[in-house]
Amino acid sequence: MQRCAMICVLLAFWNTTMTDAGSPIVIAHRGASGYLPEHSLEAKALAYGQGANFIEQDVVLSKDGIPVVLHDIHVDTVTDVAAVFPQRKREDGRYYAIDFTLAELKQLHLNERINLKTGKRVFPDRFPAGQSSFRIPTLAEEIELIQGLNASTGGTVGIYPEIKQPAWHKQQGQDITPIVLQVLKTHGYTDANDAIYLQCFDPTETRRIREELGCQLKLVQLIGSNSWNEAGVDYDAMRTAEGIKAIAQYADAIGPWMPHIVTGRDSDGKPVITDLVKRAHDEGLVVHPYTFRKDELPKYTKSFDDAMMIFCEDAKIDGLFTDFPDLAVKFLQQN
Ligand code: CA
Repeated sequence: MQRCAMICVLLAFWNTTMTDAGSPIVIAHRGASGYLPEHSLEAKALAYGQGANFIEQDVVLSKDGIPVVLHDIHVDTVTDVAAVFPQRKREDGRYYAIDFTLAELKQLHLNERINLKTGKRVFPDRFPAGQSSFRIPTLAEEIELIQGLNASTGGTVGIYPEIKQPAWHKQQGQDITPIVLQVLKTHGYTDANDAIYLQCFDPTETRRIREELGCQLKLVQLIGSNSWNEAGVDYDAMRTAEGIKAIAQYADAIGPWMPHIVTGRDSDGKPVITDLVKRAHDEGLVVHPYTFRKDELPKYTKSFDDAMMIFCEDAKIDGLFTDFPDLAVKFLQQN
């Protein structure tokens, strides 16, 4: 028991010190998605060039069971699927990645995300709509890009895949996690020292990855908000001392939402910081909150750097997801 605790502490220490001088790690959220369409290989190459430590992949399955890099189980908010395959929507009017073979998904163009209700772009000042040509990558293609850049530049950038909606995939007849783990294994990601964090919102699945599937990779329990009305998980309970203790039994890190760590400023202008980071550190977990965006800053911050200062210096996070890896890297180099 004592030896196990020692190993946990050493692992936690290694996690927090794997970058220069214990500086928080920069995770490129969907790539450098502030500048290029999210999850395009181009956005990943730019994130690499901007100095991200890790690059994120959200993973869903195609109809033929190939892991592809897309944020949603739907493809209609980021591609031209409605124009290319107008007959292929479900009764709810939505188009699902799992209804299309990889060959079909490869025919689609990736675009800046739109809000389906308004038809407008979510971030209007980002990469212009309909310009150039971007395609959906497979998880294997993206890993090969990052590993190839590591080989050609001498870099050590890691990957940060997320298993999307495993319970939903099961309802559709596909068990996504073992398929993703196989792709990771094929590309050399098998143990805790490898440059990878594997993340999931579904705590049943994250625990299964460790305990049932025997995965040794560093695991991240993502924590959402009950206000998003996702069935099945009580995210408020996950952030209590008991909840964090339970997560520490199977994971190495938590990925909370920024408002879980800082709730605003008090009457003296001081940031109000919850005890979530301390609670996690006490259990040996590192903390990587999402998402730092210069075009969607918390109301109590004056600038991207201000947000970085509060979270890195005051709240003592260990890493962060950002759409703008260059800004985070620049801040950390200067501070
Ligand atoms: Ca994600």
